[in-house]
Amino acid sequence: MTQPIDTAHLWMPFTANRQFKQKPRMLVAASGMHYTSDDGRQILDGTAGLWCVNAGHCHPKITEAIRRQAGEMDFAPMFQMGHPAAFESATALAAIAPEGLNRVFFCNDGSEGVDTALKIAIAWQRMRGDTLRTRLIGRERAYHGVGFGGIAVGGIAGNRKHFGPTLASVDHLRHPLDIGRNAFSRGLPDHGAEIADEFEQRLLALHDPATVAALIVEPVQGSTGVILPPKGYLQKLRAICDKHGILLIFDEVITGFGRLGAPFAADYFGVVPDMIVCAKGLTNAAVPMGAVIVRQDIHDDFMRASAEGAIEFYHGYTYSGHPLAAAAMVATMGVYRDEQVFERAAAMAPYFEDAAHSLRGLPWVKDVRNLGLICGIELEPVPGKPTARAFDAFLKCFWDKGVLIRTTGDIIALSPPLIIDRAQVDQLFGAIADVLKAQSAAPQTMEST
Ligand code: PMP
Repeated sequence: MTQPIDTAHLWMPFTANRQFKQKPRMLVAASGMHYTSDDGRQILDGTAGLWCVNAGHCHPKITEAIRRQAGEMDFAPMFQMGHPAAFESATALAAIAPEGLNRVFFCNDGSEGVDTALKIAIAWQRMRGDTLRTRLIGRERAYHGVGFGGIAVGGIAGNRKHFGPTLASVDHLRHPLDIGRNAFSRGLPDHGAEIADEFEQRLLALHDPATVAALIVEPVQGSTGVILPPKGYLQKLRAICDKHGILLIFDEVITGFGRLGAPFAADYFGVVPDMIVCAKGLTNAAVPMGAVIVRQDIHDDFMRASAEGAIEFYHGYTYSGHPLAAAAMVATMGVYRDEQVFERAAAMAPYFEDAAHSLRGLPWVKDVRNLGLICGIELEPVPGKPTARAFDAFLKCFWDKGVLIRTTGDIIALSPPLIIDRAQVDQLFGAIADVLKAQSAAPQTMEST
């Protein structure tokens, strides 16, 4: 470390400060596939920051667009007025969204996007006279951000337990991870589509379907360890929602913008939801921004009801459609298109898959799961010390190998920028292989969290 840093005041997000203080990991610059650490090392970014820098860091066209907008107009209210960049960015997003999803509501991140989508769902059902439809269904192990709506439909008990009651009418569908039947699947798992049937058989039997407003799912559950939908699973969920008048929301905060090689997971799977929540790659993460892309007719229903004086959708944020975010977003969409970033991800996916599965057979590797440029490597936990192995691998990759990975529990998660090349794929998986081999040779050196 070059300068001692004062850690007395910043309350770090999702971090027990001691975890950081023991070994402060400071990033001071970024470019393309790399971060620079404060001790001058180049760190290969195996996680696109937090699954978000899809076109690589500090892309000059995005940086320039932000700079230009910042010099022109810093902020403009969007309530009862507007500014061109916000409309331009909504048009750019609708242009790549699945057919029928044409209206864009802007917010500032994924958490706000989730809460916005849940509110739209309940208000829309109510507006149509379905006043009983207030129940929301999520899934176990889902991550939908940290708003009260998001933690309620999310399936992580630890994210809820200290905050008292959240939303009253929520239930959760079982997640489809089944290592027993699907270990080391390449791409989509063969087994488990029938888990979708539990939505109808159990949850809708328990709760009258006429009380359910929406089901929200991440097409690929990312931050809780890369849980892939078995073949046919999402199609089944769509059919059940259709049958019972339930809205289907895809949380594509991670899967949006090329992570699977298509603009959205909805395109990849050929399953069109009623709303898509996105953020992260929306601006290549250069400025915070989230969005909900909504079926045109849902929006039109609100406008009609508003004209009739029946309902106004009173919702929005000071920074909805913020000029800097909007400018960054338009530039980002241009980069994705002109540099064929999604196509590059699709082309690299088979090589990435082979590299990921080369870890099979290494010490403690219990499962490898991959799709597009996303991968989860699940390790056997240390008895009495779950998470220790993966966290130790994270530290060793960062310090010894100059590679940034992410861990969640006993799972290493990878989601590099979509511009990664073959040599960098080799470096990423080679570093993890080296670290696991070294760890198993000297388990006594393992650091715990
Ligand atoms: N949904 C999903 C699927 C996510 O992965 C995340 C963040 N990782 C969020 C929502 C929340 O996004 P944010 O942190 O931008 O609020």
